[in-house]
Amino acid sequence: MENCIFCKIIDKQIPSSIVYEDENMLCFKDINPAAPVHLLLIPKVHFDSLAHAQLEHETLLGKMMLKVPQIAAEAGLTNGFKTQINTGKGGGQEVFHLHIHIMGRPA
Ligand code: 5GP
Ligand code: ZN
Repeated sequence: MENCIFCKIIDKQIPSSIVYEDENMLCFKDINPAAPVHLLLIPKVHFDSLAHAQLEHETLLGKMMLKVPQIAAEAGLTNGFKTQINTGKGGGQEVFHLHIHIMGRPA
């Protein structure tokens, strides 16, 4: 989507430190980390937030959730991690392309 910073990261118009990529999703380091490891996992298809997810995104969201522990382990978060999805302005969302925060401290 035009003017979406995360779509530009997907298109490599804006550089990022990518830690995982496949045909459905991209995971990269948060530019302003709130934890020693702070990653953002995003779908390659644009939708604004969890509140904008549709039935057609059901499989994609399932694939993303199942990928989270694998990405976390590969980032060294073998002892556990936090996930966060901010939804809407009231939920603290600043970038309106759905993303899952993955945060933690390597074991
Ligand atoms: P939100 O508050 O929307 O849930 O989180 C947005 C996150 O995106 C923030 O943690 C912020 O640091 C991160 N972020 C914003 N712009 C960029 C960017 O251009 N590159 C990267 N890697 N992260 C970004
Ligand atoms: Zn987008």
